[in-house]
Amino acid sequence: TKWVFTFGDGAAEGRASDKNLLGGKGANLAEMCSLGLPVPPGFTITTEVCNAYYANGRTHPAGLEADVAVALDHIGRLTGRRFGDPSKLLLVSVRSGARASMPGMMDTVLNLGLNDETVEALAADSGDARFAYDSYRRFIQMYSDVVMGLDHEVFEEILEDQKASLGHELDTELTAIEWQGVIALYKAKVEEELGRPFPQDPHEQLWGAIGAVFSSWMNNRAITYRRLHDIPESWGTAVNVQAMVFGNMGETSATGVAFTRNPSTGEKMLYGEFLVNAQGEDVVAGIRTPQNITEAARIAAGSDKPSLQKLMPDAFQSFVTISDSLEKHYRDMQDLEFTIERGKLWMLQTRSGKRTAKAALRIAVEMARDGLITKQEAVARIDPASLDQLLHPTIDPKAARDIIGVGLPASPGAATGEIVFSSGDAEDLKTQGRKAILVRIETSPEDIHGMHAAEGILTTRGGMTSHAAVVARGMGKPCVSGAGSLRVDYKAGTLVSMGQTFRKGDIITIDGGNGQVLKGAVAMLQPELSGDFAAIMEWADAVRRMKVRTNAETPLDARMARSFGAEGIGLCRTEHMFFDGARIVAMREMILADTEKDRRAALAKLLPMQRSDFLELFEIMAGLPVTIRLLDPPLHEFLPKTEAEVAEVAAAMNVSADKLRQRTEALHEFNPMLGHRGCRLAVSYPEIAEMQARAIFEAAVEAGKKAGALVVPEIMVPLVGLAKELDFVKARIDAVAKSVMDESGVNIDYLTGTMIELPRAAIRAHVIAESAGFFSFGTNDLTQTTFGISRDDAASFLETYRQKGIIEQDPFVSLDIEGVGELVRMAAQKGRATRPDIKLGICGEHGGDPSSIRFCEEVGLDYVSCSPYRVPIARLAAAQAAV
Ligand code: ADP
Ligand code: MG
Ligand code: MG
Repeated sequence: TKWVFTFGDGAAEGRASDKNLLGGKGANLAEMCSLGLPVPPGFTITTEVCNAYYANGRTHPAGLEADVAVALDHIGRLTGRRFGDPSKLLLVSVRSGARASMPGMMDTVLNLGLNDETVEALAADSGDARFAYDSYRRFIQMYSDVVMGLDHEVFEEILEDQKASLGHELDTELTAIEWQGVIALYKAKVEEELGRPFPQDPHEQLWGAIGAVFSSWMNNRAITYRRLHDIPESWGTAVNVQAMVFGNMGETSATGVAFTRNPSTGEKMLYGEFLVNAQGEDVVAGIRTPQNITEAARIAAGSDKPSLQKLMPDAFQSFVTISDSLEKHYRDMQDLEFTIERGKLWMLQTRSGKRTAKAALRIAVEMARDGLITKQEAVARIDPASLDQLLHPTIDPKAARDIIGVGLPASPGAATGEIVFSSGDAEDLKTQGRKAILVRIETSPEDIHGMHAAEGILTTRGGMTSHAAVVARGMGKPCVSGAGSLRVDYKAGTLVSMGQTFRKGDIITIDGGNGQVLKGAVAMLQPELSGDFAAIMEWADAVRRMKVRTNAETPLDARMARSFGAEGIGLCRTEHMFFDGARIVAMREMILADTEKDRRAALAKLLPMQRSDFLELFEIMAGLPVTIRLLDPPLHEFLPKTEAEVAEVAAAMNVSADKLRQRTEALHEFNPMLGHRGCRLAVSYPEIAEMQARAIFEAAVEAGKKAGALVVPEIMVPLVGLAKELDFVKARIDAVAKSVMDESGVNIDYLTGTMIELPRAAIRAHVIAESAGFFSFGTNDLTQTTFGISRDDAASFLETYRQKGIIEQDPFVSLDIEGVGELVRMAAQKGRATRPDIKLGICGEHGGDPSSIRFCEEVGLDYVSCSPYRVPIARLAAAQAAV
């Protein structure tokens, strides 16, 4: 097996498509080399070695050492240096690199190969002793932290003490001699803490670092990140060993990061930050405030620190050319890392840049319009779930803003919540159903949990490429970073702004669109769905086969869903219409009635209300199909629960509290989910279904007259297990239809169908299809009844199942394709065998889940139906599934 792949000087053994083997970083370093870009030479140890390392009790495979020695010689040849040889000093970086980029998850060691002897060689070689000792102290810090597990804070403390006693503010102010003093203290500290000296042998250092990269694949941060992003452990990480170039060689050197387009808005402009006389992570660590790359960005930001364009015009020009060519080559927005050593530009990384949903849309649309990608590729590039971010509210421009601070607009969208200062508190609030804004000086990978739990993130330090900003954008959470005028005091538990003190639990609002931090809750606005969003949706609709409907029963939801592009209603839950005001009274009268006659009298009061509900929905959905489900939940859900409520209702309805209590007791069920509900109600009390059918048909007649738009109501009978249940209810519906047609003299087109939400219905689908004009897969109940679990009770053990690897995903979120899906597939086939033109749809939560939608396309359903906010997601997911 080939364990090691080299790159450098215009050639490489690997290429971009070798991501699985070389990791993203290694594959792209190889690709950049082959493109002839200036990349320090190096080599990549493959991800297979990582897997072998774990398979063999954390030992390296035989032959690796020899391969690495050869590869080191390769670097030596290209640089004219030799690893471990002070007379021709070669220093390297050791960098991890998984297939998928895992920002901040794995640790990099720079300046490896330095020791007490070689540091002097570096000083002589470069003619810059300050630089040499600065590099050495960085190396001791990083190596001790990453490889030897010594917390970097112990070094920071030493450095802070030294700077204070020497009267320095910035690291760059320390002289060579002063750094030598710091180094002596560092080394003493290492020995004191670890009981052994800092390793001086470059080869020992190298193998220590390689082992540390592999080990970091299994550190907690990496494991958490993988779990959150569904990255399998089996992928492993590669290790990149690369000749060092130095951004800390004085004022003509620099290091920076950039995006080829603005990652927040998608605007086509070089967008990034750099620091003079700095190395590696200095830019993202937020220690010094970074400078803008272009003049335009500097002016826009109102910064008085010179841009790279002004400061180092030649290096800037090469960088512009290279970033353009990389974007064209990869046909996507790139996220670049570079270093300038004494005026010469070196490329250290390129990858597809993370971006907000808004930026993703703009970039895809503009690249398609520029002919760089096709429209279909543009559609395929948008993560459907990410659209959610765009559908979220922003602050109403007319709302009064009580601004308490301003930071950078790091991730768009607005959020309101209670202040919390720790990730743990954010999680606690979330479990209590409360909303939190996570307020931190800066975030680290340990905060990922808390960032997930919070509505939004506010930091007082760090730029647009800080950890908080990058992670928040990936999560689609609003984030304001680097709000420097705010003071966070963790110990006191306060956030202080211009004399005002805020504490944990106080409400604030952040506006990730402009970086403002506001006191209290602020009025929000619904999003704008035109422009790039509309373009992608239009392109998606052009390739989509399945229709997308919505689950809605209120006019508000129905209108919202139409504005999101819903093509009808796939599930109108009529019981939701029975809860408010006069309706619940009539409903309770109906439930308390002792005779059918009294029941019908109560239902007669509900009829006009239902009719006007349906009429309104028909008008909103003019010309589109509307599926109405007959009453589904057990009747006791409509009765009062507490003693006080019982007394109140009894008085209002003029019945004794005892009678009400007795009826409630009689209706009590041990397992309501499996109880007297669905079509079972219609079999027991056909008059309920008849009233609903009449309301539907009369509304259809009226809608036909009024709007002139033909409505074809689809009446859906829930929880059918036996064909005879459907036959029974359908006969009642048909009879009502006939009498409404006779009364009105208007012919009504309608369909009667059923939900498939019991395994028996799926098994007997060919028989049920004899009476059903359509099937709608109620995958929420079908999941419950197939697994034999109740959604309300399963949350506790499903999480345990997930952690123990028994299930991969919550089957209520993503359809269990092997089990529940098999029933759907079977029912669809059997249904079609009986009735080839049977309409098939899905109306469970899964109708808005992209991977479930892919399955629906595969089975050939006619439509998916989902909650209004999921409609755009479903449109896009259905399009991606179709190509
Ligand atoms: P991450 O995956 O966290 O981005 P990297 O391996 O990219 O880690 O390393 C972080 C930074 O270290 C780089 O952006 C670059 O600034 C610096 N770096 C890495 N390798 C070298 C090198 N060979 N020469 C100079 N700087 C380097
Ligand atoms: Mg990097
Ligand atoms: Mg159901």
